Amino acid sequence: MRYVRCYLTREQIDEKRRAMGDTSQAVAQKTVSDEVCLEVDHLRMSFPLYRGLMKRKVGEVHAVQDVSFTVHTGETLGIVGESGCGKSTLAKCIMRALAPAEGKIVYKGTDIARMKEKELKPIRSKITMIFQDPFSSLDPRQTAESIVGEPLKINHLVHSKEEYNARIDELFRLVGLNPAYRTRVPREFSGGQRQRLGIARALASDPDVIICDEPVSALDVSVQAQVINLLEELQAKLHVTYLFIAHDLSVVKHISDRVLVMYLGRVMELANAETLYENPLHPYTKALLSAVPISDPKVEAGRERIKLLGEVPSVLERPKGCPFCERCQYATDRCRTEVPALKDCGNGQSVACFLYE
Ligand code: SF4
Repeated sequence: MRYVRCYLTREQIDEKRRAMGDTSQAVAQKTVSDEVCLEVDHLRMSFPLYRGLMKRKVGEVHAVQDVSFTVHTGETLGIVGESGCGKSTLAKCIMRALAPAEGKIVYKGTDIARMKEKELKPIRSKITMIFQDPFSSLDPRQTAESIVGEPLKINHLVHSKEEYNARIDELFRLVGLNPAYRTRVPREFSGGQRQRLGIARALASDPDVIICDEPVSALDVSVQAQVINLLEELQAKLHVTYLFIAHDLSVVKHISDRVLVMYLGRVMELANAETLYENPLHPYTKALLSAVPISDPKVEAGRERIKLLGEVPSVLERPKGCPFCERCQYATDRCRTEVPALKDCGNGQSVACFLYE
């Protein structure tokens, strides 16, 4: 059986609820404010590479190279790329699980890139994460209540047992879980419900930014749309900002306001979601988009697939020039020696490719 993803627009969700006689709560409309919530400026992160018995340093892996972008409050920025492109390292730097080698991470006007652990403490509760795998990211021995309640206790956000219980109930309801399930352990929940627990935990400390690290890729296709729709609903209600990391462009398209495409640690293209899908510029973005399945079999049969040449280069043999030059059908000698800068092409679209100078 072939599943086709079905995402509902906000209007369709409203309509469905009305049809079911649910007049209790209108779905809030998402708003993106002018305020910049997060700014990443020329961020770099590399790891030393050791080999042999003596652990000799043989090189460096440049996981994130010169990455810059801004995200507005209430916005969703999709970050897309193949595995190993640096998106998870970027997320860890923003969470400050890693200290970046260079560059700035400005959260609400303050650079947190070089902050000490003590200074970071109040910020940790404001930038949280939803993990990829709801099966391994939850402690199998903890009850659902203690999983969701942990950030409340760590950050001293509740001051009495009553307040704690009321907040747990509220968080369970927010993510569509029955508060009566609070004493259950993770194995008693389905995959989708476990990810809802993960979402409730990320929401517990009332964050401004949530980094969603491939939050639906470990779920059944039939459940993915429910989780995506829930994330959208929560964003509209709570005005939270998302960085949504994925390798699947069809998921990112639905939820993102803008999309950033990464390859070998660098930004290849950044554009509004609509512009990117209607008019991709970078050869890598075009190739990724040509691999996204389309539900209409006629359109699917008639469209051109762009095959990428070769494989992703090894971490030790990264190209000197454009990171994509070994797989690009338009590569010239210049592409093999010079790194193209990210250039503004107008209409909110920037691309790092010599074809658009
Ligand atoms: Fe291809 Fe050159 Fe553009 Fe890189 S800069 S994507 S190699 S044409």
